[in-house]
Amino acid sequence: MSEQSAQKHSFQAEVAQLLHLVTHSLYSNPEIFLRELISNASDACDKLRFEGINHPEYYENDPDLHVRVSLNKDNKTITISDNGIGLTQQEAIDNLGTIAKSGTKDFMSKLSGDQKSDAQLIGQFGVGFYSGFIVAEKITVESRRAGAATNEAVRWVSGGTGDFEVAQIEKESRGTDIILHLRDDALEYLESYKVKNIINKYSDHISLPIEMQKEVWQQEEVVEGEEPQGGQYVKTDEWEAINSASALWTRNKSEITEEQYTEFYKNLSHDFEAPLAWAHNRVEGSTEYTQLLYIPSKAPGNIFTREAKPGIKLYVKRVFIMDEAENLIPNYLRFVQGIVDSADLPLNVSRELLQESRDVKTIREGNTRRILTMLDGLSKSEDEKDQEKYKTFYAEFGSVLKEGLGQDLVNHDRILKLLRFATSTNDDVSTTLADYKARMKEGQNAIYYVTADSLNAAKNSPQLELFKKKGIEVLLMSERVDEWAMEFVHEFDGTPMQNVAKGAVDLGDLQDAEEKKALEEATEQFKPVVEKLSSALNKKTKEVRVTTRLVDSPACLVTSDGDLSPQLLRMLKQAGQPVPEIKPILEINPEHPLVKKLESSEQFDDLANVIFDQALIAEGGLPDDPAEYIKRINSLLLK
Ligand code: ADP
Ligand code: MG
Repeated sequence: MSEQSAQKHSFQAEVAQLLHLVTHSLYSNPEIFLRELISNASDACDKLRFEGINHPEYYENDPDLHVRVSLNKDNKTITISDNGIGLTQQEAIDNLGTIAKSGTKDFMSKLSGDQKSDAQLIGQFGVGFYSGFIVAEKITVESRRAGAATNEAVRWVSGGTGDFEVAQIEKESRGTDIILHLRDDALEYLESYKVKNIINKYSDHISLPIEMQKEVWQQEEVVEGEEPQGGQYVKTDEWEAINSASALWTRNKSEITEEQYTEFYKNLSHDFEAPLAWAHNRVEGSTEYTQLLYIPSKAPGNIFTREAKPGIKLYVKRVFIMDEAENLIPNYLRFVQGIVDSADLPLNVSRELLQESRDVKTIREGNTRRILTMLDGLSKSEDEKDQEKYKTFYAEFGSVLKEGLGQDLVNHDRILKLLRFATSTNDDVSTTLADYKARMKEGQNAIYYVTADSLNAAKNSPQLELFKKKGIEVLLMSERVDEWAMEFVHEFDGTPMQNVAKGAVDLGDLQDAEEKKALEEATEQFKPVVEKLSSALNKKTKEVRVTTRLVDSPACLVTSDGDLSPQLLRMLKQAGQPVPEIKPILEINPEHPLVKKLESSEQFDDLANVIFDQALIAEGGLPDDPAEYIKRINSLLLK
């Protein structure tokens, strides 16, 4: 054996930190190490299958992929071996010594010191391999890359503290052996029944066999004339599969238990919570595929960032092709996790090819329909449990779903029906558009809504004052996406949607002749004040006009019908987007004492500006020049 002397390498700083955390805070659920290492071994076999499509020689003469777990009581080791893709020396250094994933920092910031919940985070951020150190004082990895010309292989050794050693060794078989040198408090993992239980619990669905050495019962030698005393299990040279080793989704629905579906989901998504719901179907038609789609019960922290990736894995005829196949589900359903196994796509399909494939388009449409149908079913269900599930779903993913209003014109109406709102008369986010319509007043011919930065701001928006006085319900919208999404919603079931902060209030038949007349009179009476205001505020407003929509507030800001609203402008500004210069309309309340005061005020300019800035503040904005605003207020206070 031509062994080169070992070279020392330091772990990347983040890895060292992580290792410390793994070994110190994650031991409350130690058995997960086995799941993580088996999952890596299975990934390695998937990778070989994939590369093997173009490089059949990688299989050498060892075509049956498997994972083997062996226990050695004498050496106190447990070894997880696979004949998958293997690692080159450089890959071992890179993949086992650094963390490329940006999610890891996120992981560390989430660790709380609460062992249980920390343990639950471990899988989510790709720290899987390091979980071996929960039970091992030393890990040795020996690996030979598939396709290597010689038996040259790598040995990686670490005690899980600051550094690791790498040496060149020889290894006859392709693939990776992960050898865990167990700590004295983890020797229970040398018991085969225990290990079998763990494999069955976490890794049953893994689609390749996970094997252990077959054991047979050996009777103790029988002494003549005495009862046999006992015996023990001894290992044979035969290997037997511990798991059922058939890809879960290929089995019949009726043969799969709820627990198996849940365990599959947890493995797939690295989520520790059970999913809310799932759909499993074999679809036949112009293209044939199996879909197994899950709705999680909790949104990942990055769901609104660019890092959020759809969680659908693509298989072709049971061969794993790729993770995060974004073409299989629209962006607004990116929370969905699952697998699609196509019977028609070519095995060497690339991401680029996926974009153009008609089969993929059909699959995406099928997945979309299935998820929307599942949500519709939950939302309409009479079953209290389902209703609770829908509530959870909506709280976690409702605002992601709303993005679909702008992205998916085909399913626009189905999405609208899934929406739930708080309203001016009901704080609970539970009102559907149909509920609202059913409660509309006689003579009301629009669905009114208001958008604001928070639910409170929406609820107390000056624009709502008249509606409250007249007892007209208004939908309250305060999620970031609402402004944008509502740009795509013009009507529901034949009734127009109207933003109460846009355009003049038109209550249609809800406003009687007397009120209309009062407005005309006030407009006439305030003409000089309005003109004066217009010129005093001409840098800030587009127009000043008298309104009857206000009851308690002196003024409010509204937007012209076609313009972007102030909230949307603020959002775009915060996001660093270029924003058009749009001035709002100032509407004044002729009944308000401050407004009445304007006519005779000696400090007209101060009062006018303060009224404007207050209207801005009331809807969650900030005066352009806060210092000037304070100066004007103080000057008025002193008078
Ligand atoms: P993840 O599996 O999420 O990538 P892990 O920490 O579990 O993160 O594994 C880190 C990396 O180490 C893997 O991405 C892979 O490149 C490599 N690796 C781990 N186990 C094996 C194995 N059995 N065979 C080949 N490569 C492996
Ligand atoms: Mg892993």
